Amino acid sequence: MSPTFIRAFRVRKRHVAALVALVFIAFYLVRLCEIRAGRQAVEAQAWSVANRVIVVDPGHGGSDPGAAGKDGALEKDITLAIGRRLADCLGQAGAMVLLTREADTELSDPATTGQAAKKREDLTRRVDLANANRADLYLSIHVNSSSSPGRRGAQTFVQPGSAAGKMAAEFIQAELAETFKNTGRRPVEVDHFITRNTSMPAVIVETGYITNEAEAKLLQDPDYQAKAARAIYAGVVKYFARMSSSPGEDPGKEEVIKTFRENQTKVYRP
Ligand SMILES: [Zn+2]
Repeated sequence: MSPTFIRAFRVRKRHVAALVALVFIAFYLVRLCEIRAGRQAVEAQAWSVANRVIVVDPGHGGSDPGAAGKDGALEKDITLAIGRRLADCLGQAGAMVLLTREADTELSDPATTGQAAKKREDLTRRVDLANANRADLYLSIHVNSSSSPGRRGAQTFVQPGSAAGKMAAEFIQAELAETFKNTGRRPVEVDHFITRNTSMPAVIVETGYITNEAEAKLLQDPDYQAKAARAIYAGVVKYFARMSSSPGEDPGKEEVIKTFRENQTKVYRP
C-alpha cells in the first residue's frame, strides 16, 4: 500500500469517528430537549391536581412483605419509598394526598389473627380511608413478580368497566413506558378487592418486577424510585387535565379539603 493511500485512509477514519461522535451528541441533545419539553408540558398542567384528594397507597407493610427478590429486596419497602416520593410530588403541585401508610406497618388490628383475616382487614381499611375522604383518585403502588426471571417493566391494572380508571391507567402506563423504555404494555382489567370497592377511579401500579435481578436492583435505587414516582405523577397530572369537571363541587369534599388546610398540610401521613 502506498503511503499516500494509508494517509488518506487514516484521515477518512478520523472523519468517520468525528461524524459518529457528532451524531451521538446530536441525538443526546435532542433527547435532552425532549425530556425538558416533556417536563415543562407536565408542569404547565400541574394546576389540574390542585385541590384533588388523592390516595397514595404503598402496598403491603408490616407482617405482609409482599413479593421478595433473590437479593432479599422486599416489595413493601420499595412501594413505601416510591409512594412517599409520589405523595411529595402531588403535594407540591397542590393536591391533598392521603398516604395509607408512612412506615413499615399494616393497617389491620394487632389483635386480629390469621393471615387471610389480617389481609382482608388491612385492605378494607385502605379502601375505607379513600371512600370516607371522598378521594378523586386511588393509586395503589406495588411491585410485580413472575416465575420467568426475564420479565420486566411496569404494568397497570384497573377494574373492568371503569372508564375513568382506565383513562388514568393509560396515562400512567404511557409515562412509565416513556421514562423507562422497557415495556409496550397496556393497562389490564382485573377484578381486585381495592379497585372493586373504592368509590373513585383506582389504578394499581406494578412498578416493575422484583423477580428480575437487574430490575430488582433498580427498584431499590433512590434515583430510579424518584423517576418512577415522577412518571406516575406526570400521568396523574395529564389525567386530571383531561377530566373536565372541576374539584370541590361536593360539600363533603370541601370539608375534607378544609381539614387539610386547617392542619396546614398537603400530605396527610397517618
Ligand atoms: Zn403487591
